[in-house]
Amino acid sequence: MLVAGNWKMFKGPSETVAFFDAFDPPLGVDVVVCPPYVSLARAVGRGVTVYAQNVHWDAEGAYTGEISARMLVELGVEGAIVGHSERRQYFGETDETVARRAEAALDAGLGVIACVGETDDERASGRTEEVLRRQVAVLPRHERLVIAYEPVWAIGTGRTATPAIAQEAHALIKSLHRAPVLYGGSVKPDNAVELMAQTDVDGALVGGASLDPESFRAICVAALV
Ligand code: PEP
Repeated sequence: MLVAGNWKMFKGPSETVAFFDAFDPPLGVDVVVCPPYVSLARAVGRGVTVYAQNVHWDAEGAYTGEISARMLVELGVEGAIVGHSERRQYFGETDETVARRAEAALDAGLGVIACVGETDDERASGRTEEVLRRQVAVLPRHERLVIAYEPVWAIGTGRTATPAIAQEAHALIKSLHRAPVLYGGSVKPDNAVELMAQTDVDGALVGGASLDPESFRAICVAALV
């Protein structure tokens, strides 16, 4: 089981240090924390695997605001999220750029958590399967690639997918790609056990509930049940 915490645009360097001072990850579960870029250096070396929240496809160049895989490796960061729905919604991320970011990160020796998932409208109009097939099709086949199924309507909304909905989507994704599949979307300590008990759920990608060391620990413990 893998439990990853996506901090989004929360926690600068000092709050990151405070988090790790208070966070006591349980043994027996792979834990990843994904702080903002400016906090990565403070997170590395604290006994937990550190991933970035995004990564560029080129090694260097005129790409204002971007960070390369090589730079992350130099810092001791071990991987990156790519294709988070907030990147797709607000920053023009496409299936093509997600694939390029994933390939570059894997080539540089990083792990990758690639996010896929349908919007509310896509689910309501019966297009969930089509969307997942399209988003998964572009992802590289690689042993360090993990997929996160994150229905967009469940992210930050408190509307968690039912375990049955998650299981159905995970089974589809696993029929298309060999990677482990995490569930993400309003995972909290009180729903984590049931979600991670589903046959094809291999862990969780946690947003809001990963910001508090106690609730993130509780979700990591739920992965052991
Ligand atoms: C996320 O940011 O990947 C996420 C799943 O957020 P939340 O847990 O807050 O819904």
